[in-house]
Amino acid sequence: MTDSLRFACTGCGKCCTGHHVPLTLDEARHWAADAGQVVVLIEAFVTDGPGMPLEQREHVMRRSHPVRCGAGEVRAAVTFAAFNPGRCRNLDDNDLCTIYDRRPLVCRIYPVEINPHIPLRPASKDCPPQAWQQGPELIHGTQLLDTGLQALVHASRQADRNDIAAKVRICQALGMTTSALKGNGFTAYLPDMGAFAAALAQLPEDGGAAWTLHVEDQALGASLQEYGLHITREPPLYYAFIGF
Ligand code: SF4
Ligand code: SF4
Repeated sequence: MTDSLRFACTGCGKCCTGHHVPLTLDEARHWAADAGQVVVLIEAFVTDGPGMPLEQREHVMRRSHPVRCGAGEVRAAVTFAAFNPGRCRNLDDNDLCTIYDRRPLVCRIYPVEINPHIPLRPASKDCPPQAWQQGPELIHGTQLLDTGLQALVHASRQADRNDIAAKVRICQALGMTTSALKGNGFTAYLPDMGAFAAALAQLPEDGGAAWTLHVEDQALGASLQEYGLHITREPPLYYAFIGF
């Protein structure tokens, strides 16, 4: 970790290409209203058990929600993200954002990390080398110096916490109830956007759906079954399993 990091965006537009941008619930409403596609990414863990990174306990507990799984319980963490497999639909021919004044929080925060346990590493970001060689000091030690960015990161973390119960209810109403084990992968869904927008407009009740964990590793699956959890390793039909 570098002691001090300078940064100034060069406007190259690379972070607007090939990135699924996490959205707050409100931002997902806007994305749907603008006819954009949302991808839903789900991971789950057992409290103080498999999948839970103990050193991140507070962070992961606050942005997850308990759901029933077999005879046991897991906590589901759900991300609604703008589906951007290529150029973002809002990036114009001059690499400028056409919704700049109302772009999502995460677009405003990049390249800063939202997870407090992940240090900012230029090598893992899309920004060109010159972006890190100019501009004011962004990070000193582990401290983010820009107070405006601090406020945005705080708002993003808070939205994660505020939104998670509603996101789980939407997943349950739309049948998106198979998750990967955190650390082992994600499940990814591309919901029908008409049904998704309707669920966002009128949040469904919590129907208490039964969830399943998609785990392909046989030994890991067997160890999770000892917790009474419902496991599948069937090839997915309605979602993708993105293993690590
Ligand atoms: S919404 Fe704008 S800033 Fe965000 S990824 Fe799309 S083009 Fe880039
Ligand atoms: S990749 Fe980095 S330098 Fe390029 S537009 Fe995004 S934030 Fe700016």
